Amino acid sequence: MRDLQQKVNAVPRALCRPAVFFDRDGVLNYDFGYVHTIDNFRWIEGARESILACNEAGYLVFVVTNQSGIAKGVYTESAMRALHAYMQEDLREMGAHVDAIAFCPHHPEGLVPELRRACSCRKPEPGMILRLCREWPIDRAASFLIGDKPSDMQAAEAAGIAGYLFSGGNLLDVLLPRLRPPQV
Ligand SMILES: [Mg+2]
Ligand SMILES: [Zn+2]
Repeated sequence: MRDLQQKVNAVPRALCRPAVFFDRDGVLNYDFGYVHTIDNFRWIEGARESILACNEAGYLVFVVTNQSGIAKGVYTESAMRALHAYMQEDLREMGAHVDAIAFCPHHPEGLVPELRRACSCRKPEPGMILRLCREWPIDRAASFLIGDKPSDMQAAEAAGIAGYLFSGGNLLDVLLPRLRPPQV
């Protein structure tokens, strides 16, 4: 009975889509430290084109980003949201989009009391990835993450997806060899 229930609830694998999870700072934009304004936001070479390539290949596109600057009082959640809206608008101009942006606003030593805690979403914890996997029909076996830090790789591994390190240059060079062609 429980087996049957699980089958009813699960989205059939054929209807699931592969996903690419991008870290933000240091992968999509240059990491100048606590980036939270448009002035301080600069796309990495090939980042927008990478997102477009994922869109066109039928992948879901997610951003998973630690934003401890919110817990630390460096900037507000609404400032971050404004920046993310700007990113989406910029992408839209070239026909690209991110499906969802997950962020962790916490930090164990934060100044904002309600955000000052150890959590299960701050990478290397896999919470952001796992939540997206619950909320979206994701083919996890065909999905992967691109990050620039060991904590990104650890989060991917803990979530059961592949992780690839980006260490500068053009993001397309890391992405394209891993994208499979559109499944018709
Ligand atoms: Mg990073
Ligand atoms: Zn968190």
